[in-house]
Amino acid sequence: MSYDEARKIRLIMSLRGRGITSSAVLGALERVPRELFVDPAFLDQAWEDRALPIAAGQTVSQPFIVAFMTQALELTDRTKVLEIGTGSGYQAAILARIARRVYTVERHAELLQTAERRFAQLKLHNLHTRHGDGWKGWAEQAPFEAIIVTAAASEPPAALLEQLGEGGRLVAPIGNTSEVQRLVRFRRRGDAIEQEKLLDVRFVPLVRGAARPGGAP
Ligand code: SAH
Repeated sequence: MSYDEARKIRLIMSLRGRGITSSAVLGALERVPRELFVDPAFLDQAWEDRALPIAAGQTVSQPFIVAFMTQALELTDRTKVLEIGTGSGYQAAILARIARRVYTVERHAELLQTAERRFAQLKLHNLHTRHGDGWKGWAEQAPFEAIIVTAAASEPPAALLEQLGEGGRLVAPIGNTSEVQRLVRFRRRGDAIEQEKLLDVRFVPLVRGAARPGGAP
């Protein structure tokens, strides 16, 4: 067994011990090669339960948080899901292994291009990308049964709540980056939105405004 393989098994077992009970989620983490999504300088840490830096001053979340958020979305193989903040593409690839279709929006053109190359390499044909402002969601493809935001805002973007279908789940870190953020699950019940606090987290900010063509953060 290779070093990576042993690390991977240890990580999956530790996730199970920490409440990741969905076999679909554990199976997706096992199948998606995280080493493909990390910066080469951190390759030896790809299967550690750690967030790692990626280009443009952003981070790929730690595997536990990726697994926890994915499980909180309650996906099936029929679900259409929207992700805001493609980053490395790792979370999107996990979603694409479970859900029917994944739509992901990123404001950094450079990050998006790198992620797209990885999706092609893994032949993830049920994944659709857009370079744009995640605050606006993806109206043409709404409604979504599940929406995941992988950057923190002080409130859930109104457009995303609007694009959530009946019974749909929106999982997002809520709070200012200077404070502790809470991972919150919002659920649409008719015109009402229910909220559940899940756990304390730390994410980079969900930036307001126009998408950057690339280059500096
Ligand atoms: N899900 C990613 C982690 C992303 S870090 C992964 O698995 O690697 C958060 C990402 O959100 C960054 O790439 C950042 O550029 C992006 N982001 C921040 N504000 C955004 C916005 N308004 N619209 C779209 N993407 C945004």
